[in-house]
Amino acid sequence: MDYLPVFLDIRERKVLVDGGGTVAARRVERALSAGAHVTVFDPEPSEEMRLLFGVSDHLEHHARLPAREDIKGCAVVYGASEDTVRDAALHAWSRETGALCNIADVTDKCDFITPSIVDRSPVVVAISSGSAAPVIARILRARIEATLPASYGKLAAFVGAFRQRIAAAVSNGIERRRFWERMIDGPAGDFFLAGNTDRAKSQIEADISSAATGRQAPTGEVYLVGAGPGDPDLLTFRALRLMQRADVVLYDRLVGDGILSLVRRDAERINVGKLPKAHSMAQEDISRLLVRLASEGKRVLRLKGGDPFMFGRGGEEIESLSEAGIDFQVVPGITAASGCGAYAGIPLTHRDHAQTCLFVTAHGKDGVLDLDWEVLIRPFQTVAVYMGLANLKQLVDGFRRHGVDMGTPVAVVENGTRPNQIIVTGQLSDIVAKSGAAGLKGPAMIIAGSVVTLHDRLGANRPNEGIHEMSLSPLNSSGV
Ligand code: SAH
Repeated sequence: MDYLPVFLDIRERKVLVDGGGTVAARRVERALSAGAHVTVFDPEPSEEMRLLFGVSDHLEHHARLPAREDIKGCAVVYGASEDTVRDAALHAWSRETGALCNIADVTDKCDFITPSIVDRSPVVVAISSGSAAPVIARILRARIEATLPASYGKLAAFVGAFRQRIAAAVSNGIERRRFWERMIDGPAGDFFLAGNTDRAKSQIEADISSAATGRQAPTGEVYLVGAGPGDPDLLTFRALRLMQRADVVLYDRLVGDGILSLVRRDAERINVGKLPKAHSMAQEDISRLLVRLASEGKRVLRLKGGDPFMFGRGGEEIESLSEAGIDFQVVPGITAASGCGAYAGIPLTHRDHAQTCLFVTAHGKDGVLDLDWEVLIRPFQTVAVYMGLANLKQLVDGFRRHGVDMGTPVAVVENGTRPNQIIVTGQLSDIVAKSGAAGLKGPAMIIAGSVVTLHDRLGANRPNEGIHEMSLSPLNSSGV
């Protein structure tokens, strides 16, 4: 290790910044946010720097170059003037007084590195790649930024308030550390990050009292998580966090391999996948299994395609959890209609085409569709049909019977957002033949309405390589 990582307590101490540009302004901001008294030296500070003057009474500006006496009493000295003569003097004077000196972009004149940081105060992550490649540190920072929940800092402050009581309740050092891990990485932390502070508090209270009596209750929980339509990139941060924490995962066939590989490696996997007409596990059995596993103290991940509350029977599953008194949380996901629309370049609403979008399911019993046709055929709306591929013909027949223009544009998006996505476009009159010819098997989303005409223009420059396009015929535009 070339550098000693430390976090300096700089409150009420003096920091000198030489320079008036962007880099200098960043140094000033960071020193101020750590509570330092900052003095800036520059004859002509930039607009950006001038905006900082006056925001803090800890900041002073001198419209001249720094002199040797100015360094006295400074804990940290930053050179950011990009002037080698100024830099050399500043560095030499800092050496004389023992101040820590950093000259921007001049490695041999730096006593320390200014790291890239992810600020979730009081939690702060600092990253250094030495002086070798600052870009690596910046990219890493962006990744950590993306995975560390925004409220993590508040979580630290929140659990910190229980410090003394936990120390009193759990005297053994190792057990106390385990207690903290269970608390932060378990239900209490989850409740807090999900915005339920009261529940987090009562969970910690319960944990403390059971620790004090030496009895640890199993704290099983169910995470009902929407995994989105297939592209792992569309998972939410919370989904990913819970996926990496689960002891056991129950998933169905809409959840692709790319997503499953992101679940904690040693988690037990149970496929409860329901293929059409080949039910592998009845809904009641799934609900019962969730209750049983959570009652054993396990953290159970119920991973669902799309959004769990959108034609996903998520409501039924949490009903049985609620009856059994099992804690659960629901994490929304991107529903197939949104995912398919976005990846196919079909906005579901558009000022010139549709002011309404209906999400319906055409999963009829015995080939008979139980749909509210009067609502479906209204003009200037988009109809997004889930589970409709097998009944596409009945769907088209229904539209015809209710007087809808057979020239109405339709798109069928199979495996939307996945590498094997296929988009078939046509009109009500020919979509059955075209999707038959394309050999579509599903899962597929049917989108009907004049927004589909936008696919020609907006679908062309999508970034998702490897996605197939089938039968683009000229479409006329009329509302459904
Ligand atoms: N809860 C899910 C929907 C479950 S119903 C959600 O919010 O998306 C299952 C239906 O969703 C499928 O029959 C299909 O119509 C649609 N679907 C799910 N994933 C899809 C995908 N990747 N591409 C196209 N349609 C999809």
